[in-house]
Amino acid sequence: MSFSRHHNSAWKPATSALHTAYRSDPTTRASTPPLYQTVAYQFDDTEQAARLFSLEEHGNIYTRLHNPTTAILEERLTALEGGVAALAVSSGQTAVAYAIQNIARHGDNIVSSQALYGGIRNLFANGFKDMGIEVRFVDPETPEAFRKASDERTRAFYGETLANPKLVPFPIQEVGKIGKELGIPLVIDNTTTPILCRPLDMGANIVLYSMTKYIGGNANAVGGLIVDGGNFDWQQHPERFPTLNAPDPNYKGVVFSELVKNPSLELEGRAYVFRARVVLLRDLGGALSPFNSFLFLQGLNTLPLRMEAHSRNAQAAAEFLSAHHKVARVVYPGLLKGEARKKALSILQGGDEEFFGGLLGFELKGGLSAGKRFIDAMEMICHVANLGDVRSLAVHPASTTHGQLSSKEREESGVSEGYVRLSVGIEHIDDIKADLDQALERSG
Ligand code: PLP
Repeated sequence: MSFSRHHNSAWKPATSALHTAYRSDPTTRASTPPLYQTVAYQFDDTEQAARLFSLEEHGNIYTRLHNPTTAILEERLTALEGGVAALAVSSGQTAVAYAIQNIARHGDNIVSSQALYGGIRNLFANGFKDMGIEVRFVDPETPEAFRKASDERTRAFYGETLANPKLVPFPIQEVGKIGKELGIPLVIDNTTTPILCRPLDMGANIVLYSMTKYIGGNANAVGGLIVDGGNFDWQQHPERFPTLNAPDPNYKGVVFSELVKNPSLELEGRAYVFRARVVLLRDLGGALSPFNSFLFLQGLNTLPLRMEAHSRNAQAAAEFLSAHHKVARVVYPGLLKGEARKKALSILQGGDEEFFGGLLGFELKGGLSAGKRFIDAMEMICHVANLGDVRSLAVHPASTTHGQLSSKEREESGVSEGYVRLSVGIEHIDDIKADLDQALERSG
């Protein structure tokens, strides 16, 4: 659980992605992180087994809770985000559900940006409602709306860094500040901008990922991640967070915010993510397969490079589409000017070069029917409901990823009828432009 195995806090993200948490196997000397495709772990003796089960000692018991391959992935991503610990789970949806269920119970509420990926919007509007957790949707263009919508039962503020597919930058600093004043943690889904944005540095407290997307990068595994920033004081208003501050019958009255102070457990500041593991993952069982962790580790090796390549290609594709006679409008943060550009850059910190990610949206002059014909005419770009793959992908959100939403919900998510979402891959840009061009010409 700690970085004691192998980490240097001075490492830059590209180095942490390759080196954190593993140097070589002490027995075999294998230098690539091994795939521990095992369910269970041998106990030292019955005394130790009992200590592990009662949380007096922390260690591997069973792969639903811990796995050494998954632990390397969790530690590398914790280092990349500047957090204190992470929990990998079976999908991005599970990560979002657990992140909220870990602190909100029946009768509680959260305040969320209305610009969300359709699957999360469904979970919030319908799934959580059935569980008795109310989600209050607000427009993130007005950060004060978060304060106005909150009350004493508000357990979190929630947003997506660059909302899928509206691509509006979430005001992390402003909402984080309001949350800090009110004692409400800010949870940010950073699926669309790993590396390019570090939400914890800007005032977020919990960062979530669908690793299925850019972190994996090869579209061969589904997985999710919860990163604990360790920067929220759960004991400031103890009555607000009973799951962390009240005696927990799951473990004979353990109080998680107190338990983690035991230095021998090496869990200081990790009450939130530790509770998610030993209660939610234990009870609900959304564990990540070790094989998928192994695949995500391969993806992580090249993540910093890929985010730059995706961003460069997306910028070029956005400029190409903007100049095309069949295109009515293009949505891409790299096309913004003036104050709007400054706002986007305040959360996207590419370093010397400005990077705006690999997602863009556009509308054809011919509307819905032209949009559909464009998608059917693509020869290289794949028509799939995914994003973040090394290959370029396109989808028509109104009939797929956001198809189950009402027209009002779709509008709030930024999905008009003719909107096409492009996840720009890392093919040669000339080939991307050529396929866009021929498909546009055949779109009618
Ligand atoms: N969050 C965002 C922003 C997404 O785009 C997605 C999936 O598209 C998810 C969460 C859900 O992730 P998964 O498909 O891994 O469950």
